[in-house]
Amino acid sequence: MKMVYFFDEGDGKNKKLLGGKGAGLCEMTRIKLPVPPGFTITTDVCKSYYQNGKTIPKSLWPEVKKNITKLERKTGKKWNSDTNPLLVSVRSGAAISMPGMMDTILNLGLNEDTVTALTKKTDNPRFAWDSYRRFVQLFGKVVFGVDDKKFDHVLEEAKKKQGVHADSDLNEQSLREIVSQYKQICQSHTGKPFPMHPDEQLQLAVRAVFNSWMGERALVYRDKNHITKDIADGTAINIVTMAFGNMGNDSATGVVFTRNPGDGTNKIFGEYLVNAQGEDVVAGVRTPKPVDEMQKEMPKSYQLLVSTCKKLEKHYKEPQDIEFTIEQGKFYLLQTRSAKMNAAGMIKTSVDMVKEKLVTKERALLRLQPDQLEQLLHKTIDYEQAKQYKKVAKGIAASPGAASGVAVFDVKRAVSMGENGAKVILVREETKPEDVPAFFTSVGILTSRGGKTSHAAVVARGMGKPCIVGCSEMKINSEAKQATVGSAVIHEGDAITIDGSQGDVYSGQVPTIEPQMTNDFKTILDWAQKEKKLGIRANADTPDGAQLARKYGAHGIGLCRTERMFNATDRLGLFVDLIMAKSLEERKQRLEKLQELQKSDFIQILKVMEGYKVTIRLLDPPLHEFLPNPEELINKMHRLEKQGSQQEIEETRIILARAKELAEINPMMGHRGVRVGITYPEIYEMQIRAVFEAAAELAKQKVNAYPQIMIPQVSNITELNHIKSIYNKVKAEAEAKHHMKIRINFGTMLEVVRGCLTSHELAETAEFFSFGTNDLTQAVFSFSREDAEGKFLPEYIEKEILERNPFQTLDVNGVGSLVKLAVANGRRIKPGLEIGVCGEHGGDPNSIKFFHGAGASYVSASPHRIPIAIVAAAQAKLAEKSTKTKKKK
Ligand code: PEP
Ligand code: MG
Repeated sequence: MKMVYFFDEGDGKNKKLLGGKGAGLCEMTRIKLPVPPGFTITTDVCKSYYQNGKTIPKSLWPEVKKNITKLERKTGKKWNSDTNPLLVSVRSGAAISMPGMMDTILNLGLNEDTVTALTKKTDNPRFAWDSYRRFVQLFGKVVFGVDDKKFDHVLEEAKKKQGVHADSDLNEQSLREIVSQYKQICQSHTGKPFPMHPDEQLQLAVRAVFNSWMGERALVYRDKNHITKDIADGTAINIVTMAFGNMGNDSATGVVFTRNPGDGTNKIFGEYLVNAQGEDVVAGVRTPKPVDEMQKEMPKSYQLLVSTCKKLEKHYKEPQDIEFTIEQGKFYLLQTRSAKMNAAGMIKTSVDMVKEKLVTKERALLRLQPDQLEQLLHKTIDYEQAKQYKKVAKGIAASPGAASGVAVFDVKRAVSMGENGAKVILVREETKPEDVPAFFTSVGILTSRGGKTSHAAVVARGMGKPCIVGCSEMKINSEAKQATVGSAVIHEGDAITIDGSQGDVYSGQVPTIEPQMTNDFKTILDWAQKEKKLGIRANADTPDGAQLARKYGAHGIGLCRTERMFNATDRLGLFVDLIMAKSLEERKQRLEKLQELQKSDFIQILKVMEGYKVTIRLLDPPLHEFLPNPEELINKMHRLEKQGSQQEIEETRIILARAKELAEINPMMGHRGVRVGITYPEIYEMQIRAVFEAAAELAKQKVNAYPQIMIPQVSNITELNHIKSIYNKVKAEAEAKHHMKIRINFGTMLEVVRGCLTSHELAETAEFFSFGTNDLTQAVFSFSREDAEGKFLPEYIEKEILERNPFQTLDVNGVGSLVKLAVANGRRIKPGLEIGVCGEHGGDPNSIKFFHGAGASYVSASPHRIPIAIVAAAQAKLAEKSTKTKKKK
């Protein structure tokens, strides 16, 4: 097994083996970009390290040494030399980028001899000792696990002693003292002297980087981002000749995006620090300058940077996120990777790159992550109303969108409060990768330090969470759980609002407004609509929902849950009366009133969706869901017995008796769906009549309405035929009454296992099918859809028993097999049969890909997921096209 690849040997495409960073460095070397020489230890070595109880393969070290010799030849420097020492960085890098989640060590190779040599060679003792103190600090933290605070304390004390504010003002003497104290800290931590020989340093560093693959933050990050073993298995390690951004005022280091990741503007965007090393920018310890200023300060390097960015984009056909270092005027690229952008940035760059003829429309669609588009449907501050609120501070707008919540100054508390449903704004001086769990549970992030490329900014943008950084006027004291701005104090738990688009912090809960769709977004949706094959419909049961879905591009309603209409405040009483009715006569009176209300609901929705099909599903939940639960009623009885009237007591007693009568041990598999339609046929009859009456009225108004009636929970053709006969009777009556033919398709849901297995029988009667994959998943797994996600499913996923939550992403092997079988059997009877999907999976990109392949006619999703579904459907079609082309070749 070849374990090490020099940068001129590696294949730039093999990210699995070399990691994203390693492959990028190899590729850049190949296209002759200025990359410092180096080599990569493969991810296979990391895998073998873990497979063999954390042992490094014996043959690795000789291979590494061979490559060090090659580095010596390339650079003219020598490992552990007392005249011209070779120093390296040791950088982690998995197949998929996990920014800041694993460890990196810089300036490795320094010791008392090499630091002296570096001093002589550069004639710059400050630089040499500054590099040395950085090395000991990073090595101590990463390899030995020393708490950063201990080093920070020494640094702060040294600055005080010398009377300076900036790290870069520390003189040689101070730095020497710092190094000695840092080494002492390490020694008391480990009980051994700080390692001197570069070989020993490198061996320890390699082990530490491999260990960081299984470190807590890396594990949490992979878990939250669904990075499974087939996507990235182990980290590679890149050993790269140091380029020094801290060699004086003609040296610098920076992080730049080739286009603005916040809005996609085609202009380089980023920050740099003069006389500094990479980790200063990323950690946010010094606030860097915007890269625009480099144009004046270092014009030659700036030009080189711009032209390199163009070259990279042309090569990768994707905006890049790069790290660079300028060492005494000489420009080096240390990393390139596809830029992580928010949804607005992705959309604009997709449209722009097509205009610039850099990519095709197909590629522009395929590069989007459909789930991310939800960000564009996010709220912003209502700026008019915001005038009445106090702006307490201003920072750097780092990730757009607005969020209101309570200020929380501690990561653990932010996690526990967020998990308990509180809207948390995490407020910190700066954030570090180990703080990431709190990002997931917070609605927004606010820091007092750092720039747009600091850790908080990068992570928040990736998650689409509003974020403000560098809010330096805010003094944060996390111990005292408060922040002060001038005389104002924000205590933990106080309501604040952050505007991540402008950088403003408000006290109180500022009202927000719904987002507008940009022209670029419309262009993308238009391209996707033209490309996709699957139809996209909405799950909507109100005229507003239908309106929104139509605005977002839904062509019809795939599921209108009629029970939601009974839940409205003006209806619930009526429906409860219906359930409580003592005689059929009484029930019919109530039904008449309800029929009128349902008819008007249907008319409104059908009008909004004019020209498109609207699938109306008859009542599904069990009747007792509309009554208060018996426990509540018993409590009420106790209260009333003490202070209520006789009449109230009697009424409650009757409801309680009915609730008890209807109660079921397992309601999800109980008296619901078509079973209600069979035992209370007057309810389904009323609903069917309401649809026919609505259709007749709309026909008279010349509105093109296409209602369809759908029956839930069907397991058996006899059930379906039973309801069909009610439908036939109502149809005949309505047609006679209105003197017209009324065409309304009659179909069934497929959400019961037996229904799927006998779909060829159901297809004889049904004019369409729609998969209810929520109930179907429940049935196939025997997992309660109500309880599983809150009980054992998270642990199943954590223990990798299941790769994904099957209620979110369709289980292709199990539920998917049943879907395929039901589709095939149904279409055998009726070849053109319309088959939709109306479970939650209809809005999930991975599931959409499956449904495309399974031959579904459409998917139906909630209004906010319509744009996601449109793009995912287009991607499914494009992926299929490219597989077919590959096969032909
Ligand atoms: C389903 O079961 O997938 C479905 C759409 O119906 P409901 O969620 O209303 O049970
Ligand atoms: Mg269902």
